[in-house]
Amino acid sequence: MTKKLALKVDVDTYRGTREGVPRLIELFKRHNVGATFLFSLGPDHTGRAIKRVFRPGFLHKVSRTSVVQHYGFPTLLYGTLLPGPDIGVKCADILRRTRDGGFETGIHTWDHVRWQDGVQSAPQAWAEREMRLACDRYADIFKDAPKTHGAAGWQMSLHALRATQRLGFDYCSDGRGRYPYFPVWRGEVISCPQLPGTLPTLDELIGLNGVTESNADQPLLQSTASMEGDQIFTLHAELEGLRLLSVLERLIVGWKAQGFDLVATRAIYESTTPGSLPYSVAELGTVPGRSGTLLVQGDDWPLARAA
Ligand SMILES: [Zn+2]
Repeated sequence: MTKKLALKVDVDTYRGTREGVPRLIELFKRHNVGATFLFSLGPDHTGRAIKRVFRPGFLHKVSRTSVVQHYGFPTLLYGTLLPGPDIGVKCADILRRTRDGGFETGIHTWDHVRWQDGVQSAPQAWAEREMRLACDRYADIFKDAPKTHGAAGWQMSLHALRATQRLGFDYCSDGRGRYPYFPVWRGEVISCPQLPGTLPTLDELIGLNGVTESNADQPLLQSTASMEGDQIFTLHAELEGLRLLSVLERLIVGWKAQGFDLVATRAIYESTTPGSLPYSVAELGTVPGRSGTLLVQGDDWPLARAA
């Protein structure tokens, strides 16, 4: 059986949607690979993230990856000095062209900054409202209901996990981990399966252990060379779709040479038998190279499988 590697594209900003997504589509088509695009569908308020500068760990990350180069200068003013453009309204054609190009599409978020900064402390109604805003906009644009969700910044809460069950998603890819599982949050089983990202992102590698923007493909290819199971790699339209496009192209070529079938995340979902997926603890944890906590797959949960 061939091993699969899913390319999951998180699209965070207006600029990433307009400039990064078309370049990624061109690259993926040229190499004849599948991918999943998860869109931010409401206002781009990236500028409001500037308050994160005052959080521990953020300045360290800024010193490794230039935020201004990463996002572009106007993007950093959206939601502060400039009004935030409504991505779903302004970029609906690009979103539909992505689907028409044969790629899987789904939801990243409604308002990236508000979700990342708000979901941990927000009540059930807030989490569900934010997700419903994105689902409704998705349905407006695609005339179809969204089937998958990958949380902004891998930020989730029990309330958000509960909402994944109610919003009709087949599966979600909201956190980081080892393999597909049903999440168990403090003893509560969530019936929507999670397909976690299994590999580090390029921005987590760059700046550590001698990894630079020009050689970041090397440590990833070294680590995947001996991997046998299916993998999910998250990339960003703002980064791999723009400045790191050539690094991504080397990864695609390298992964193909290692025998991976490069696919949309859905292809991994469709190759699983949902009834036989393991249960694992879902909790907040850390990953190397990234500041703060995010949703991670913990230990397997010793629970009898559903009959
Ligand atoms: Zn994101």
